[in-house]
Amino acid sequence: MPYHVSSEEFEHIAAAALDRVPAPLRERMDADNLLITIQPGATVHDRANDIDEHVLGFYEGSEDSVFSAYTYPKRIVLLQGNIEHWCASYDELVEQVHDTVLHEVAHYFGLSHADIDQTRLRH
Ligand SMILES: [Zn+2]
Repeated sequence: MPYHVSSEEFEHIAAAALDRVPAPLRERMDADNLLITIQPGATVHDRANDIDEHVLGFYEGSEDSVFSAYTYPKRIVLLQGNIEHWCASYDELVEQVHDTVLHEVAHYFGLSHADIDQTRLRH
């Protein structure tokens, strides 16, 4: 049974999750202008990149592209509807957002899924 909150409430939960990231890591993320964006779900563009309803969030790094003269900002995207889908209560939602944020922050710092499997952040 999905647990829904307003987008404002979801932002609040995401901000609180970010506050739990250790300060030295957060400072590096801030210095790098890492964006955290919240989408209701996967866009058509995301789906073309294998982002489906099972994906709770993802990290998009700036990559050199032959099609673009400028680099896109690095960002972590949280898919609100997908996260809500797997949560039955407010507490579960808070924990799932926290785990998803930390999982994507780990990717930002270069950890692979094999690395993440060594921690409690696997998904
Ligand atoms: Zn991942």
